[in-house]
Amino acid sequence: MSENLSAAAMAQWVRQFATLIAQNREHLTELDAAIGDADHGANMDRGMSAVVKALDDAQPTAAGAVLTGVGMTLISTVGGASGPLFGTLFLRMGTALGDAGEVPSQELGTALRAGLEGVVARGKAELGDKTMVDALAPAADALDAALAEGLPLADAVARASEAAATGRDCTTPMLARKGRASYLGERSVGHQDPGATSVALLLEAASELGR
Ligand code: ADP
Ligand code: MG
Repeated sequence: MSENLSAAAMAQWVRQFATLIAQNREHLTELDAAIGDADHGANMDRGMSAVVKALDDAQPTAAGAVLTGVGMTLISTVGGASGPLFGTLFLRMGTALGDAGEVPSQELGTALRAGLEGVVARGKAELGDKTMVDALAPAADALDAALAEGLPLADAVARASEAAATGRDCTTPMLARKGRASYLGERSVGHQDPGATSVALLLEAASELGR
């Protein structure tokens, strides 16, 4: 079990996220068809495929640089709301990890918090607005709490993943107040948010961290 976050571990997380996005592409598209423009699955898959290709070409040696690279690729390859927002999430996470080759596992909590703050600064969504923030904020809280309790990284990540999934599920009854879904008003109620669904996949993809 490794309690340090290496560049290789970050790359494995990112690759696993790309795999889950590809597997869930149609599901994400269906969710976005109900309350958006049916492109979220394609957007995320296009972005994460480009990310995997960039990692195949050159893998950075610092943990933070892996994530900032992901952010830059997402911003340059994905349009719409999710490109800049997921791009900002990864950019801020990577910047928070700094330049070291490996960082202590506690830094993952700091990184996820910084990523959340970046998404909120960029998208101005609050909790309850039916966006990716509704999965990301509980995940960051759960990760911080679990790491502060002294849980091993793998267990802390599992808690964060559960919190993200619960947050994702909680978006269903919400009325959308941000993004395309907000144009639907009351008709957005009763549908799960696509972006929150992708965030839950991101935390699910982290399940090998610390193992
Ligand atoms: P677009 O809405 O431009 O078609 P996507 O379909 O790829 O982009 O992504 C939609 C997702 O983006 C939503 O499900 C929501 O989670 C997220 N989103 C949209 N606007 C915001 C915002 N202002 N803040 C946070 N997340 C947002
Ligand atoms: Mg869309």
